[in-house]
Formats: sequence, C-alpha cells, structure tokens
Amino acid sequence: MGNSNDEQLQRQRKRFLHREKAVSKQLKEFETATSSLPIGIVMLGREQRVQWFNPIAANYFKFRGNKLNETTLEKLLVQHQLKHILPQLQEGKSVIISAPGDQATALQVKLVELSKKRWLLILDDVTQEQLLQQMRQDFIANVSHELRTPLTVIAGYLELLSESGIVIAPSHRTLWDNAFNQLHEHTWRMQRIISDLLYLSSIEHEKSSDSEEDWIDIEVMLHSIRGSALMIDAQKDLTIKIDCQRGLALLGDDQAIYSAINNLVINAVKYTPSGGTIHLVWRDVAVGCQHCPDFCQKSRAKKGAILAVSDNGVGIDAQHLPRLTERFYRVDKAHSRQTGGTGLGLAIVKHIFKRHNTQLEVSSAVGRGSCFFAVFPPNRVELKSLK
Ligand code: ADP
Repeated sequence: MGNSNDEQLQRQRKRFLHREKAVSKQLKEFETATSSLPIGIVMLGREQRVQWFNPIAANYFKFRGNKLNETTLEKLLVQHQLKHILPQLQEGKSVIISAPGDQATALQVKLVELSKKRWLLILDDVTQEQLLQQMRQDFIANVSHELRTPLTVIAGYLELLSESGIVIAPSHRTLWDNAFNQLHEHTWRMQRIISDLLYLSSIEHEKSSDSEEDWIDIEVMLHSIRGSALMIDAQKDLTIKIDCQRGLALLGDDQAIYSAINNLVINAVKYTPSGGTIHLVWRDVAVGCQHCPDFCQKSRAKKGAILAVSDNGVGIDAQHLPRLTERFYRVDKAHSRQTGGTGLGLAIVKHIFKRHNTQLEVSSAVGRGSCFFAVFPPNRVELKSLK
C-alpha cells in the first residue's frame, strides 16, 4: 500500500515538474518574442502597477533595476512630467510624447485594457512619421509664403489697371472685359487660398499655451456672425435662429473661435437652398441640439456644452463624412468653387476645435440637412453672468 502511494506521489511530482518546465519554456519564448517586437510594452497589474516591460520600453522610459513593481502608471508619468496625458490614456486615446529617455524620439502611447486588473501600455516610435508630417507642413507654409508676394504684385497692378482709365478699342472691349474679370476673380481666389493655407499652418504650429484665452460670451458672438451671414446671400431668404443658454461662457481664443463658427455658418448658408433654416446652438450638452433629433443625440452622454450649426440644406452622403475635414476635399468640386470656397474651411475648423480640446463632428443626411457640432469639456465651460 505504502509503495503504491509513493509511486503515485513520484508520478505526480514528475508531472508537476514537466508542466513547470513547459510553462517556463513558454514564458521564455513569450519574453523572446516580445523582446524582439519593434514596439515597447509595459504590462500593468492591480492598481496599474508595473509588472513587466520589454527592453525597448525600458529604453524609452529609462527603467533601471527591479524596483519597478512598486511604481504605478500614474507615478511613472509624474516622474517623467507626463501626468497630463493620463486622462487621455484612460479614455482610450493615443497620445504622442517625446520619449523620456531620448527627447528626439516621438512616441505614440496607448493604454489597452485587457481585463479589470490588467493593462498593456504600448509605446510605438513614430519619429519618422512626425518628421515627414513636419516637412509637409513646412513645405506648404514656405510655398504659400513664396507665392504671396508675386500675387500681391499682380493684384496691385490689376487694381491700377482698373483705375487707369485706359481706353480700349470698341472691337476689343468684350474680350478685354472678360479677360480682366477672369484675372481679377482668379487672383482673388488664389489670395484667399494662400491666406487660408498660411492661417492653417499657423494654427497647426501653435501650441495651446501660445494663444491668448479668455471667457467668451458665445451668445454675443453668434448674434454678430448671424448678422453678417444674412448679408452673404440676402436673396436666398434664409432664417437663422439662435438657441443659446444665457450666460454660458467658453474659455478660448475668441478670434479663433469666431473664425471656426463663422466658417461653419458660411457653409450652412452656401449649402442651404432658398427659404431654408439654420440653427446656431450653444447649450449644456445634456439638453443637446434639439433641431436635428436623429443627428447629434449620441453626444448627450458626454459632459460639457454643445456648439452646433445645423441646417436643413442639401446634406452630405455618408461616404464623404470621414474625409470632409481633409484639405481641398469637396463633395461637389464645381459647386464649391462656384460658391467661392477654398476647400480649407473645415480643415481650419477642425484644428481650432482640436486646440480647444474638442473635435468637430458631423451628422448629415442627403436632402435633409447637416449638423456640424462639437462638445466642449466642462473645464472650458462656465455659467457666468456676462454683461
Ligand atoms: P469649401 O470651401 O469647399 O466649402 P470646406 O472645407 O468648408 O470647403 O467644406 C468641405 C466640403 O464639405 C464642401 O465642399 C461641401 O461639399 C461640404 N460641406 C461643408 N459644409 C456643408 C453643409 N453645411 N452642407 C452640405 N455640405 C457641406
């Protein structure tokens, strides 16, 4: 009896050792695989404490020794003065930072939740992509600068010619008038494109700390925008209604915010046929924009205030929506040029909103209209009694 018990124990021990060997072999293979991955990985456990990291992550974060088990993700970020990125990581967003161990390396950081007690911090080197993007932005800014001067000269001479009282033979009059009008119109269009490109590159380069921010009375701003929008095409007989929460102020750069809302309103005027209605909304997001019930309702789950420009115009087919804020992307090129658009308006709005910690969203249906909106976070919104 004793013998068979011993044998059973021996067999169990062997099985256990065998399994232990297999597990540690698998663990080694996993470590080799993750070590040779071209990305940094930090595994986080309970309370987001660092449990394990691969050599690339160690390099990016200057990890030394084995004392890291006591470090939580928050402490790690504080230590490298990156605490500000924590809320965005926790919202599932990816953030681009300079690697703490090497400032010249741009890292895209993302926090992936594996379970309630397990996370992966993924660190991807995007230095090359960032450099390429920087080169592209610099190139556009330089070309625009270079073109601005000769265009100003051409525009100046055109102005001079139109005022010079030059006498044209009657047989050439029509040809001259046509040529002159076309020259005038295209020069003006090119000047607008260049000025939009320069503005876009200036806001792309600007850090949010560079701009002057103050509490803006959006209601006053909307009334002023409404006044000039009604004059763009008075024959269309559009109705522009303002739906505002009294005293609700936005912390931001007022010139930039004015330019963003103005762009959206000009578009609404351009793409809404005669007799249409445009609503300008600025309210607590819980109330929502009530003018397009099936459009922007999903935003009501968020916190903060909604700014919306909603129209009952031509609308946009769903296939175009993801590309709408790309530079020069137009749904109908001919119509857009005819209405004097540069194709840069929404790209500008997108960047201005991004600098104000929000994003431009669009809901639309062909033939029913469009709603362009953004939800500003609670730290940028306050109920004030403004004069
Ligand atoms: P554009 O100068 O061509 O208006 P934008 O960047 O402002 O350039 O807009 C890009 C495209 O989005 C427009 O060409 C148009 O097709 C579409 N668009 C913008 N706003 C509206 C709107 N309110 N209704 C319908 N289409 C719109």
